Amino acid sequence: MKELQFSKFWIFDLDNTLYSGKTRVFEQIDKRMSKYISGKLNVSIVEAKEIQKRYFYKYNTTLNGMLKNHKIDANEFLEFVHDIDIDFLKKDLTLSEELRKLKGKKIIFTNGSKKHALNVIRKIGIEQHFDDIFDIVDSNFVPKPTMEPYKKLVEKHNIDPNLCVLIEDIARNLKPAYEMGMKTIWIENDEPWAAKFSDSDFINYKTNNLMEFLKQINLLKVA
Ligand SMILES: [Mg+2]
Repeated sequence: MKELQFSKFWIFDLDNTLYSGKTRVFEQIDKRMSKYISGKLNVSIVEAKEIQKRYFYKYNTTLNGMLKNHKIDANEFLEFVHDIDIDFLKKDLTLSEELRKLKGKKIIFTNGSKKHALNVIRKIGIEQHFDDIFDIVDSNFVPKPTMEPYKKLVEKHNIDPNLCVLIEDIARNLKPAYEMGMKTIWIENDEPWAAKFSDSDFINYKTNNLMEFLKQINLLKVA
């Protein structure tokens, strides 16, 4: 873990990484996606859920599957699925403090929209710590874990992968980063869709508490 204190770039996934999966924020997005598919394809919610799951595994995101198979409007999809209630989210002062102490460039890298990312980080009170939000539009709608958006992000911010860390809850999204030379941190969880491949060798570190993990790194710097 010692090596992490010298990192100069910190890339964070958003959903279920910067806030806990237990908040059920993403569960709402998941339901909105089913509703969107149901309305768009004129199928029941149960059928929509099956399509959603199939697309997620085959195309890495539901949106990508919908784009490839149904010629939908990506922006309309993003607006619809992120139209959720996050009023209950509380400020995360301890996470904010550890992010503040963390030296280097901090970037959010999400398969979702910038608007949703901003809504969430403003609500949690950590917006001020980030230099950029690299969203699915910046990725030309090519989602993680396809290599392309990782390369694009690295280029945009002049990132040296050897001095960079990626933190994510979906294990497979860590693989391209690892192959580029980044250090990878997996937010441990037992969601089958996120934990698949979690025992693979492209994971450098695991944690079930991001704030505690960052705290350990920040303490190394003081010592
Ligand atoms: Mg996530």
